[in-house]
Amino acid sequence: MSYPGWFGDGLTHVWRPYCQMKTAAPPLPVARTDGTRLILADGRELIDGIGAWWTACHGYNHPHIVEAIQKQAAVMPHIMLGGLLHEQAAKLATRLAALLPGDLAYSFFSDSGSVAVEVALKMALQYWRNQKIRGRTKFLSFTDGYHGDTFATMALSDPATGMHGGIGSAGGNILCALPRDEESTAALEAILARHGEELAAIIVEPMVQGAGGMIFQHWDVPKRLRALADQYNVLLIFDEIFTGFGRTGTLFAATAAETVPDIITLGKGLTGGALPLAVTVASQRVFNAFWSDDPAAALMHGPTFMGNALACAAANASLDLFETEPRLFQANEIPQILAPRLGRLVGHPGIKAVRAMGAIGVVEFDHQPNLDDLKRRAVAEGVFLRPFGRTLYTTPALTMPATEVKKLADVIVKITIESLSG
Ligand SMILES: *Cc1c(COP(=O)(O)O)cnc(C)c1O
Repeated sequence: MSYPGWFGDGLTHVWRPYCQMKTAAPPLPVARTDGTRLILADGRELIDGIGAWWTACHGYNHPHIVEAIQKQAAVMPHIMLGGLLHEQAAKLATRLAALLPGDLAYSFFSDSGSVAVEVALKMALQYWRNQKIRGRTKFLSFTDGYHGDTFATMALSDPATGMHGGIGSAGGNILCALPRDEESTAALEAILARHGEELAAIIVEPMVQGAGGMIFQHWDVPKRLRALADQYNVLLIFDEIFTGFGRTGTLFAATAAETVPDIITLGKGLTGGALPLAVTVASQRVFNAFWSDDPAAALMHGPTFMGNALACAAANASLDLFETEPRLFQANEIPQILAPRLGRLVGHPGIKAVRAMGAIGVVEFDHQPNLDDLKRRAVAEGVFLRPFGRTLYTTPALTMPATEVKKLADVIVKITIESLSG
């Protein structure tokens, strides 16, 4: 690897994410992106198996998104939403209301997923307070869940699997297992019977828990949670920041689960990975609790860059592509390739499980493998991967051609076997 001039000087001053910088391998210098590929400074091309932390659902540099951003930049890159509104935010909110299931129709924009979850929590707390119902101040979240890196969202994430174990967990939050079977459902019901009236909301990543281990749920788990939330009169929040925009094979996991939450959070794929944008969308019931003559009933939140016009233009362009290109069809082709190929690892010593759903393929090891070694081997094979914990996974762009998905899967199998054999 030869490094460009900007790299060494700059790297000294860049604090890297989730990384012991002293011992980690240096990051790869990327000169540009193209479709499903990262083009390194020395001209080498890598198939991107991660898609910019799961955001690049249409691949990189999609001309329709690039053009929408350029057009918007020429007119108005940004205005604040305090006292002002622009066409791209208005359009996006209207389109989300039409696309989301049920009566989820009121969009509060922000600039990162963690903030979108914070806003959802704030909405849930104030939903009860605005109705003069006291004592509903806790949240129930699930083991293996991940909801962000800010303080309140860390407290909802599983401290064991969710990378914030060192910081410690949850003030007042209740963590329990998902209702997968009779036993876990009974345990959750017992918690709800005991603490139901202290809860503001239940929060869950429906269908797939992402950063906590890429764990798939039986399709009726979100439905069970809806039923329990209704029984105990608790709000239900779906964090679809990972699962939204085709990742699990439908536009939203809520659609596949035939379940409508009271609040949903979206981010990651919202702009097709081009610009930072997130949104918290409330249902009629939640919105009604804020619609009042009382100024104290207002939601006091307003990120400086909320509803950024460039980002909203990118998001509208991304939604166009879900309408005009066969994106969800492509998303459903990907597991047909991943499942049989990754399936070769089933029963291999050291492998706990292999799974694929939508544009997600996962190899779960019995024990944490040498992650740096896996990453290095992947790059040597022309692929970028970022395993974590016991999980080697891929979340390719939904547009990735079959030949590349095959290569990706074959490289995952090869480096897994190499890693396990020593
Ligand atoms: C990534 C993620 C977040 C946090 O989003 P950021 O934009 O990184 O703040 C929250 N919830 C889920 C499910 C995520 O995957």
